[in-house]
Amino acid sequence: MTEPGNRVFRFAPSPNGALHLGHAYSALLNHDLSREAGGRLLLRMEDIDRARCSRAFETAIVQDLEWLGVEYARSVRRQSEHFEDYLEVIEALAGEGLVYPGFMTRGEVRAYAARHEEATGTPWPRDPDGALLYPALDRNLPEGERAARIAGGEPFAWRLDMERALGRTGDLVWTEAGGDEGGVVDVAAEPALWGDVVLGRKDVPTSYHLAVVVDDALQGITDVVRGRDLLPATSVHRVLQFLLGLPAPVYHHHRLVLGGDGRKLSKSAGDTSLATARAAGMSPRDIRRMVGL
Ligand code: GLU
Repeated sequence: MTEPGNRVFRFAPSPNGALHLGHAYSALLNHDLSREAGGRLLLRMEDIDRARCSRAFETAIVQDLEWLGVEYARSVRRQSEHFEDYLEVIEALAGEGLVYPGFMTRGEVRAYAARHEEATGTPWPRDPDGALLYPALDRNLPEGERAARIAGGEPFAWRLDMERALGRTGDLVWTEAGGDEGGVVDVAAEPALWGDVVLGRKDVPTSYHLAVVVDDALQGITDVVRGRDLLPATSVHRVLQFLLGLPAPVYHHHRLVLGGDGRKLSKSAGDTSLATARAAGMSPRDIRRMVGL
């Protein structure tokens, strides 16, 4: 593990809604753990989704963090300002034949999977988030057809050729410090479960997976503290780190703060937003108590 004092943590919200109690827990835990380690905390705005993210949400997040007492280093990285960095990485992967253009729309994937299910009576596989795996059709397109479709202006996403990637990486593990027992364990990555994930979307030249891995490395992040809902995605992140020759941080996937109904909180559930709690007269100390810190 990194020397104490040199450790770098980050809180990386997407400014597409108001922070809720789950985000507060994540931000406060990052704050507390970075303090304990004598390290630094950075803030990163994961705003690649240009339709859903806004500066107004970003401002509200900054205000909420200030109110909570979460202190971070002042230079905030905004992913939307670095699209050319991500594109360079995709081009490098394309040069190595590790990504390919995927033209299929979501509807086409759904129809393809439905035809398969009807013909075989077996369900089409889904990734850990529940999305249908991308069929191998575009991966196997003849080069000429691929070039013609791109020249014809057909929109495409860059997809990782997972099979080829895994041929390079072999088995991978990551260091997990967020287990229930509190110890540090090696977790075996299972990237094949994700299939050919998107690395560059049709609208922007990156995806969550690519941007998070590139940025964690660029910002020198040594400790990734984030919700347990992102634990399965870490398998993909390890593959990308390997392919790009980037160091792997230590991961701490923390428990999720659940709503009264036992379900994961969502940004649209206004009743658990921090702004609402604040307006109702609660203090940051109350919030800490509510999330179990
Ligand atoms: N931006 C992601 C979110 O708000 C978090 C990404 C991460 O911590 O790796 O859910």
